[in-house]
Amino acid sequence: MAFGFAQAFRTLGTLALAGAIGAGLAVGDVGAEQKTPSPGSAKALFGGAGLPTQGPAQPIGFYAKGCMAGAVALPTDGPTWQAMRLSRNRRWGNPAMIALLERFSQDAVRYAGWPGILVGDIAQPRGGPMLNGHSSHQIGLDADIWFSPMPARRMTAQEREDLPFTSMLQKDKFLTVNPKVWTESRARLLMLAASYPEVERIFVNPAIKKKMCDTWGGDRTNLGKLRPIYGHDSHFHIRIKCPPGAAGCTPQAPVPAGDGCDKSLAYWFTPAPWAPPKPPKPGAKPPKPPREMMVTDLPNACAAVLDAASVASMQAATYGGPSAASALAATPAAASADDTDGALPDVGPVPNDKPAIQ
Ligand SMILES: [Zn+2]
Repeated sequence: MAFGFAQAFRTLGTLALAGAIGAGLAVGDVGAEQKTPSPGSAKALFGGAGLPTQGPAQPIGFYAKGCMAGAVALPTDGPTWQAMRLSRNRRWGNPAMIALLERFSQDAVRYAGWPGILVGDIAQPRGGPMLNGHSSHQIGLDADIWFSPMPARRMTAQEREDLPFTSMLQKDKFLTVNPKVWTESRARLLMLAASYPEVERIFVNPAIKKKMCDTWGGDRTNLGKLRPIYGHDSHFHIRIKCPPGAAGCTPQAPVPAGDGCDKSLAYWFTPAPWAPPKPPKPGAKPPKPPREMMVTDLPNACAAVLDAASVASMQAATYGGPSAASALAATPAAASADDTDGALPDVGPVPNDKPAIQ
């Protein structure tokens, strides 16, 4: 691809606009504010579920179209992590995801020179599409980790609501990591996360992927797990594989072989992914607005998940508690998975829906 930055800027109009696109989507998963979901929509129903179902843990369906049973919560605090934005009630996940986060947080301190992790959204108590923000995070196998380090003290609940995101990108340059905030420890943190066999993908901003391609001098075997996508410049997103025996979980295609420092990355440095949608031809019918997702659009088992009995309390289903232990030990039951589309990860607010990369 022969597009240089200069050409990209010309195409986009102004340098300021380019900067806004690269960095201004910093909120990534968080900032997509759409209209309030209609009562009865999948977003409204799953977003309204306050507690997970009892019984064994089951991811049902696909990352971007599904739900989950038997979720457990990441404790709000551990020696090496703090959960953020507690009011969102998105600390819920498959026990395999929660166990990985705890282990990763410990390894981050031990091996990456990182003081501990700040954990953003995992999933709603019963998964499903979220009231706002993500398009994935629906089956308890996705989690967002901040690029900001854990402070040395326990933050109050209010501080966890208010702490601003810090973008790793330069504001006035197109898709460029800011050398004032990017550190080697963040690079190690990403490669540590990618090192776990159950981690299949890690979504990062294209500028961060490029930085890793250009500078990572260690073993590059797992570099291909780092997938470039919009947003994801103040946090990264860990996606794990369907856990063994999770019959109702729809796997995603494996990442292509290689380190991904190739034309799939170069694409993001062309104007194409950032171009506004083409104006409709004069006289053309206006495109239909996208239809709201209903529970009937999800795998059949998700209706039963909504109706199933809750655990007794949040504490009862917090990882490490008695319910969590039984969920870990239980064999996941089969559930229907009748859908395989929706391949995009959570992308937050995007200028258009063109790239179907991943
Ligand atoms: Zn995410």
